[in-house]
Amino acid sequence: MPFIITDPCIDTKDSACVDVCPVDCIHPRKDEPEFASTKMLYIHPEECIDCGACVPACPVAAIYDSVESTPASQQGLVEANATFRAGDADALARAEAIVAAHVAAHADLMAVPAPERAAAHAK
Ligand code: SF4
Ligand code: SF4
Repeated sequence: MPFIITDPCIDTKDSACVDVCPVDCIHPRKDEPEFASTKMLYIHPEECIDCGACVPACPVAAIYDSVESTPASQQGLVEANATFRAGDADALARAEAIVAAHVAAHADLMAVPAPERAAAHAK
């Protein structure tokens, strides 16, 4: 199962995971035109090889190792990861709409500073 990026990436988006991913399946990269307009980064579910390198690299613990281990509050973002495709404006718009809906539905989590947000996922 693919790894999943969740909401601590919003407000952080530092690309540390991109730098360690051996198969370049995390997008958008800083050198891709979509980078400025996305609220977070996404993992391509079919390209991820489940190596786990991105998890310790993320400074805010935003990445879960499977759909099953992704907390209930973050399940909507599984689809956002699956939807985004670099170079596809429609896919970007659909993924970002999912993220915007997540933000609107989870004002409680968004009020938590990004470095502490993952700890609040299970509450
Ligand atoms: S688990 Fe490995 S392949 Fe998958 S996104 Fe993370 S670093 Fe890339
Ligand atoms: S390392 Fe974490 S916060 Fe940084 S871009 Fe990747 S998922 Fe987002």
